[in-house]
Amino acid sequence: RMKAAAAPIREVLREIHAKHASNNAGKVADYIPELAKADPRWFGISIATTDGQVFEVGDCKQTFTIQSISKAFVYGLALEDHGLEHVMSKVGVEPTGEAFNAIVLDEESNRPFNPMVNAGAIATADLIKGKDYPERVNRLLAMFSKFCGREVYVDNTVFMSERVTGHRNRAIAHLMRNFGMVGEKMEESLELYFQQCSILVTGHDLAIMGATLANGGVNPLTGERAIQQKYVKYLLGVMLSCGMYDYAGEWAFRVGIPSKSGVGGGIVGVVPGQFGIGVFSPPLDAKGNSVRGVATCRDLADRFGLHCLETG
Ligand code: GLU
Repeated sequence: RMKAAAAPIREVLREIHAKHASNNAGKVADYIPELAKADPRWFGISIATTDGQVFEVGDCKQTFTIQSISKAFVYGLALEDHGLEHVMSKVGVEPTGEAFNAIVLDEESNRPFNPMVNAGAIATADLIKGKDYPERVNRLLAMFSKFCGREVYVDNTVFMSERVTGHRNRAIAHLMRNFGMVGEKMEESLELYFQQCSILVTGHDLAIMGATLANGGVNPLTGERAIQQKYVKYLLGVMLSCGMYDYAGEWAFRVGIPSKSGVGGGIVGVVPGQFGIGVFSPPLDAKGNSVRGVATCRDLADRFGLHCLETG
């Protein structure tokens, strides 16, 4: 459906990059000192198609931590480990309209609202199978490696900072433990959550990860399956309704691309059947989304008619 050939795609990316590179709005996340070291000028846009072409401009090789973007993918692994109904009994799929780290559970079911807020992501991490903690970490890393088409690893400094400052996440985990929404492995599952947030990726990786989802779960560059096809629509559904923090509703309305952002400044977007988008730029707006990332996705959606509810 994308109304453009290869050469124009590259030109449009260059044009959009030039247009937003000079926008200095937003603020680099500094809730842990490690993240504050990011250069606010970093800005990369990458598009990877389901037939394996990659178009990119700017800082697409710069590594950063995946942070909340990991939540969508770990949700996929939880679905594979337990099936939809069991996962639904532990984590809902309702947008909250509240901050990502809100300490709130559904009053009726005691479930966290959705897997994209911290409560839901910790409950999701708790569902990841494995005989012990190392096996659970390794299963996570193996899953992300398949999506990226290369071996990924954790930034240990960020991981250590996340875990020593993560009091709020601990509080959320304890609340869920109280309600039986997370099990005996709670401490391990928190560690797992801090690990997944600290995985290093690039804008290029995000585009490939998005392209893998766009391609029904098969990485278009390696040909390797990263997730069963039947679960991809659930990931994309929750990304569309809940993926952009408390801007998710307006995002679904205006942009209409299933996406997930993280405080590291990354955004992954998925245009089903066509391509994945990876945008990276550290300065964040008040809701926690990359300023240049949001502007880029809005422009891409307008230019190429990418809103998933577009009728022509
Ligand atoms: N590790 C972060 C936290 O749990 C995730 C932040 C994010 O990307 O939303 O606070």
